[in-house]
Amino acid sequence: MPQGSCKRALPWAILLGATASGLATWTLRQRRERARAPRIDPERLREAMPEREAKAVAYTQIRYATFFLDEALGLGLLLAMQRHERPIRLREWAERHAKSPGLRDALFTSSLLALSSAITLPFSFVSGHLVERAFGLSRQSALSWMADAAKSLAVSLGIAVPATAGLYAIIRRSPQAWWLWGAGASSLLTVALTHIAPVVIDPLFFRYRPLRDEALSERLVGLARRAGVPVVGAFEADYSRKTTKANAYLTGVGSTRRIVLTDTLLQGYTHDEIAVILAHELGHHRFGHLRTGIVLGGLGTLAGFAIADGVLTRAGSRPGYTGKGDIATLPSLALFLGLASTVLMPAGNALSRVWERQCDRFALDMTRQPDAFIGVMRKLAAQNLADPAPSALIEALLYTHPSIGNRIRMALRWEALNAERAE
Ligand SMILES: [Zn+2]
Repeated sequence: MPQGSCKRALPWAILLGATASGLATWTLRQRRERARAPRIDPERLREAMPEREAKAVAYTQIRYATFFLDEALGLGLLLAMQRHERPIRLREWAERHAKSPGLRDALFTSSLLALSSAITLPFSFVSGHLVERAFGLSRQSALSWMADAAKSLAVSLGIAVPATAGLYAIIRRSPQAWWLWGAGASSLLTVALTHIAPVVIDPLFFRYRPLRDEALSERLVGLARRAGVPVVGAFEADYSRKTTKANAYLTGVGSTRRIVLTDTLLQGYTHDEIAVILAHELGHHRFGHLRTGIVLGGLGTLAGFAIADGVLTRAGSRPGYTGKGDIATLPSLALFLGLASTVLMPAGNALSRVWERQCDRFALDMTRQPDAFIGVMRKLAAQNLADPAPSALIEALLYTHPSIGNRIRMALRWEALNAERAE
C-alpha cells in the first residue's frame, strides 16, 4: 500500500476500531446485566405493556419510509450537484456578483442551500406537515408550517453560510492542516450554539414564559438541585398551538440552563409523571452526555475532515477547478460528509440508546416511582404514536431511544430488583 493511502486509511481504522470496541463492550455488558436481572412477573408485564395500535404502527412505518427517502433525496441531490461543470458555473456566477473571495463563497453556499431547500420543499411539506396532520399530531395550518420552514431556512443560512465561507478561507490559508483548524473551529461553533440556542433560536418558534404552577416549579427546581444540576428556573412553552406532542427538556448550559415543559405536557400528565420525565433529563446533564457528545462529535469531525482532505484534493484537481480551496468542491465535500454521517448513524444511535437507558435508571433511582415511569411511557406511546415493539433491526439502526416496550421492561426489572432487595 503506498504511503498516501496508508495515511488516509488511519483515521478510518481508528474510527471503525473505536466503534467496534464500543459496541462490543456494550453488548457484553447488556448480556451480563440481563443474566443478573430478576424475572419480571408476566402478569405485571402484560398489564404495563401498551397495545400495539394499528394507527401507531402505520405512522411509524411511514416515518421509516420518509426517513430513508429523505436520506436518499439529500444524497442524490448532492450527487447530481457535484457532477459535471455545474459547481464551476455556479462559482463563476457568484464571482461576477461578489468582490471578495469570502463574499463569493458565501453567495455560492447560500444559493446552493436555497436551491436544495426549494427542491426538497414539496417532500418536506408532505412528510413534515401533511402526514403529521393526517395522523392528528399537528394542529398547525399550512401557512404557519411554511412560516416555520422559512425561519428554519433563515437560521440554517445564518449559521451554515459564514461557517462554510470560514472553512474554505481556512482551507486556502492552510491547505495542509486545514482539517485540524477546521475541526477546532467547528467544535467552538457547536459550543457557542448550545449556549445561545435557548435564548436566541428557540423563541423564534415557540413562546416561553415562567411556569405558572408554583408548587410544581418549586418541586422541579428542587429535584434539579438534588440531582446536582442547578437551573435558573422552569418555563412553559406553548406547543399546543402547533402540535399535540408533549415534551420536557433542559436547554442551555450554566447560566442559561433552564427547565422547559411544553403546555401539552402540563395538560396531560400528573406531577409525579412530570418529575420522572425531568429526572431523566437531569440524568443527561448529571452524566455529562452533552459534553461527551460534543467531544465525540468534535473527534468525529476531526476524523471526517482528515479523510475529506483526500476527497477535496481529488475534487479540486479536476479540470476547471482551482484546487482544494475552490468553493466549487463544496458539493463533493458535503456528499462525502453526508455519506460518512449516514454510515456512522447506527453507531451514534447505539451510543444514544445506552445513554437513554442510563438516564431511565437514574430517573427511577431519583423518584423511586416505577408506576409513574410506566404511566409516562404509556402516555408518550399514545401521544406520539410510537410503536411499542418495533423489530430489533429497525430499533438497532434508527432508534435514538430504546423502544417503549424495552423501557417498560427495564422499569419492571428495576422494580423487581428493588422488591428483592427490600425483602
Ligand atoms: Zn433522554
